[in-house]
Amino acid sequence: MAKIYYNDDADLSVLSDSTVAIIGYGSQGHAHALNLRDSGVDVVVGLSEGSKSRAKAEAQGLRVATVAEAAAEADIIMILTPDQVQAEIYKNDIEPNLSEGNSLFFAHGFNIRFGYIQAPTGVDVAMVAPKGPGHTVRREFEAGRAVPALVAVEVDASGKALDKALAYAKGLGATRAGVIETTFTEETESDLFGEQAVLCGGTSQLVQYGFEVLTEAGYQPEIAYFEVLHELKLIVDLMIEGGIAKQRWSISDTAEYGDYVSGPRVISPEVKENMKAVLADIQDGTFAKRFMEDQAAGAPEFKKLREKGESHPIEATGRELRKLFAWNKADDDYTEGTAAR
Ligand code: NDP
Ligand code: MG
Ligand code: MG
Repeated sequence: MAKIYYNDDADLSVLSDSTVAIIGYGSQGHAHALNLRDSGVDVVVGLSEGSKSRAKAEAQGLRVATVAEAAAEADIIMILTPDQVQAEIYKNDIEPNLSEGNSLFFAHGFNIRFGYIQAPTGVDVAMVAPKGPGHTVRREFEAGRAVPALVAVEVDASGKALDKALAYAKGLGATRAGVIETTFTEETESDLFGEQAVLCGGTSQLVQYGFEVLTEAGYQPEIAYFEVLHELKLIVDLMIEGGIAKQRWSISDTAEYGDYVSGPRVISPEVKENMKAVLADIQDGTFAKRFMEDQAAGAPEFKKLREKGESHPIEATGRELRKLFAWNKADDDYTEGTAAR
């Protein structure tokens, strides 16, 4: 059974003499900075000169410095910029400002697992990885709840790396829900696999194919949207509450029987073999290399794929339909149709 930590297992006072630098103020960055600040932790946000987020962080009452200044001042440096730019920021602005006894924190193990960042001796390397989008991390914290997180220690130079990581997780709110112990390798490989095979890649493709099959057969796109996309959340909510079993308990017998006979027909054993190939590419670094090389070249493949995704007919249908849903309002910065910016 995995080790799970809760509020009573973590001591926030471990951070009482520490300054925490949050590098980046995006999805995770704003949530970490605000939650820690609200938990009484001394936080400084590190942003590049001319950063778009500076005004926003300041307006929310946070102290903002350059990445180099924040790294120099802080005892714990949490890197929350996109994975593909972390190595460069680290080399230019963080590494020269690290001293013995500092801790380098991550919310995903990518750069450590694949060797793009190597911390100097004497510095802790640990992870506090919320298992949810940053905007949910903030929303749940404000509601008195939390998104669960993973914790891992790669290098325990101080002998206190786990205590510091758990204190950080408590400040973030995550120990309210539960913080599961893992390793950088396990977190990185399983996180990439989960998002590629099931959560993002698998689900997006499944929804698009479902929409295509219905609309190509002459069904109205709005009806198709409801059946293959909108209702997905309702089904997933039941799975979260009580597993696949609860979902099957709640649906009609007709739907449950169809689940048994058609599920394995759609997701055939060949799909499992494809998943194994995806996992192999993650484990041997093939995926990481492809991603990082494309990013280094200005992300031509990434941008092309993003455009292709945004131009799928299900997006236009959804945009129009969602305008009619008075209850479907999100309190974040996302603007419809601007992801491919
Ligand atoms: P974001 O894309 O939201 O980060 C944006 C922030 O990074 C902005 O403040 C941006 O600056 C800054 N930034 C971007 N490029 C640079 C650069 N070249 N130099 C300096 N700053 C830069 O990141 P996420 O929050 O999505 O991800 C952060 C980490 O958290 C990653 O390791 C990710 O894997 C992990 N993670 C993310 C989750 C999520 O919910 N998104 C979930 C769990 C883990 P500016 O303000 O100027 O635009
Ligand atoms: Mg991920
Ligand atoms: Mg139905």
